[in-house]
Amino acid sequence: MAQTDAAYQAMPGGPLDVDKELYRRIADGPTELTTEFVLPIRSGQAWEVPQGSLCRIVSMGPQVGDLNIWNRHNPRERMWAAKTRQLHAAHVTTYDRLWSTLPYLRPLVTITGDSLHDYGVDSDGGRVHDLLGTRCDPYTNRLLTDLDFDFHCHSNLVRAVAPYGLDERDVHDVLNVFQVTGLNDSDQYFMKTCPAQEGDYFEFFAEIDLLCALSTCPGGDLSIPMWGPGARDPIDVCRPMRVQVLKPDPSSLEGWTPPVSPAYGGLNGMRPTTWATETTGSPGSGVVEYAERGQGE
Ligand SMILES: [Zn+2]
Repeated sequence: MAQTDAAYQAMPGGPLDVDKELYRRIADGPTELTTEFVLPIRSGQAWEVPQGSLCRIVSMGPQVGDLNIWNRHNPRERMWAAKTRQLHAAHVTTYDRLWSTLPYLRPLVTITGDSLHDYGVDSDGGRVHDLLGTRCDPYTNRLLTDLDFDFHCHSNLVRAVAPYGLDERDVHDVLNVFQVTGLNDSDQYFMKTCPAQEGDYFEFFAEIDLLCALSTCPGGDLSIPMWGPGARDPIDVCRPMRVQVLKPDPSSLEGWTPPVSPAYGGLNGMRPTTWATETTGSPGSGVVEYAERGQGE
């Protein structure tokens, strides 16, 4: 296994260094249950998590869930799985954060509880709570099997967000909660049987007002292959999942401050007029040609 240092390091007191004592206090403090529902098998539901609340996804037996997260007030700001993999890890646990897309780039949530925290790395190199893969979907299913199926996680999430005015284009790469995955020696993605048992939970703190959506994967606990040799309908290993939203006592939030986006003040280089005055005297270069065109129009 490679021992090369991580590219992105959490320096003490830096933006990736989470105040664990604060989040432990929030998670352990008194809370009031404000929302609770059970998501049936092979279905999706969206729900709101107000800023400063906790949200808990509770296992009702081995079953994986595909989670999407948006800013409640701006769906263009949504969970960015790839950047979260870089900033934290490809499998997340307590005190990791789930970051939002550009140009926002701020933590949407901080993970405050994970009863599978001790799963670690199994003998195949598998880890739990997967950010490597994405949702199952009917297009890939059609590609691989020539069959149509309308209850993949992608479709479950599409139906879930429709009441909020969102559509298929808003559904994005997921966090696969309770899902064990890894890369084999050929660098190929694998999935293993879900280790979650009834009562296991994954909990996060909402840093801003959120819209969340969860799909109970039609693959259930993933113990039966959905494609290739041995594939069959795994409906007998599908189980519902429970979702709870909890409001912490306000005193628990003392010392917490809402996240802000990085104060990058540039325009990604799209300022040709300013640039032209700075580059005068370089005739013939493509730079000036571009700048003059920008200035003249
Ligand atoms: Zn799925």
